[in-house]
Amino acid sequence: MNKDEIIEWLLGCDDDALFERSAQIRHQTVGDKVYLRGLIELSNICSKDCLYCGIRKSNSEVERYALSKEQIMSAVDLAAELRFGSVVLQSGEQTSPSFVDFIDNILRTISSKYGESLGITISIGEQSEGVYRRWRSAGAHRYLLRMESSSDELYAKIHPAGYILSERLDALKLLKKLGYQVGSGVMIGLPYQTIEDLADDLIAMRKLDIDMCGMGPYIEHSAAPLSKIETAYTPEERVKLTLRMIALLRIEMPTINIAATTATETLDINGRVKSIAAGANVMMPNLTPLDMRQKYCLYNGKTSTNLEIENYNIEYGERGDSLHYKG
Ligand code: SAH
Ligand code: SF4
Repeated sequence: MNKDEIIEWLLGCDDDALFERSAQIRHQTVGDKVYLRGLIELSNICSKDCLYCGIRKSNSEVERYALSKEQIMSAVDLAAELRFGSVVLQSGEQTSPSFVDFIDNILRTISSKYGESLGITISIGEQSEGVYRRWRSAGAHRYLLRMESSSDELYAKIHPAGYILSERLDALKLLKKLGYQVGSGVMIGLPYQTIEDLADDLIAMRKLDIDMCGMGPYIEHSAAPLSKIETAYTPEERVKLTLRMIALLRIEMPTINIAATTATETLDINGRVKSIAAGANVMMPNLTPLDMRQKYCLYNGKTSTNLEIENYNIEYGERGDSLHYKG
């Protein structure tokens, strides 16, 4: 699809035809399976100050936490017991040697306990090449790092000075080179964002040749500076655009794994089911201990329910690697 065609679909020229086509492609490629990843939010301590995020360093109202090794391992054990095929370890960005060692240790512990039967995804922001290498050899299979937006200008507007999109894109290329299955994604409905930007985002993900994608609506956090700037999109429009983005990405990149995100469910109670119907094939039920979960608050009203899903085959006990990944 060229950019003009993508824009037409994003504008909602024919949603029925779009979702029919994405469902058909999904059925023929990744099939109707839905894979589960247990999401564990390791810590809300973050050294960065992204203007949209509730746990940004400058938000002094946040009570900070870091899960202990025991807490993390019981959440991992729960994922294994529930026969989820994978875990996702996500955290605020930290780069201290002690943090890097801690993650290394966790990865080794999970790998030695579960071997290759449990997929391990990490999402811990931008790190040095050495750190990415270490964590890969300690057992991480996949890395999630959203580009947030493929527009240099928009990226600059939603981040403090000095945060540069090309560095994030370089990190994604590096992760790919190091043999990770690489996931990326964007926020949808940001202030200043245009439909053209979203079309460019899809083209950028195609160009990066990602293996996995997690994208969802932008949601204001009242303590984050970006919430003072109004976005042009209502919450309903953000959900609609998210579903169209998922469908278009499924059509453009048929074999990748696409997650139904919590942010979509936060704005629409049926958001996850609708995302799956649009072409997503991964769900990430939250396994963070409840009292900590509330403190990992990236945006207002974050939900964290687990839901039953009909008509799709939930693949218990399967890692569900991206079919797009070639090692
Ligand atoms: N610190 C890591 C991982 C945790 S943040 C990182 O930034 O990569 C994970 C994702 O949450 C971010 O990539 C961003 O896309 C999303 N996020 C943060 N604030 C958000 C908000 N207000 N609305 C929607 N998504 C948000
Ligand atoms: Fe930190 Fe990630 Fe939030 Fe940015 S988006 S402030 S890196 S947790």
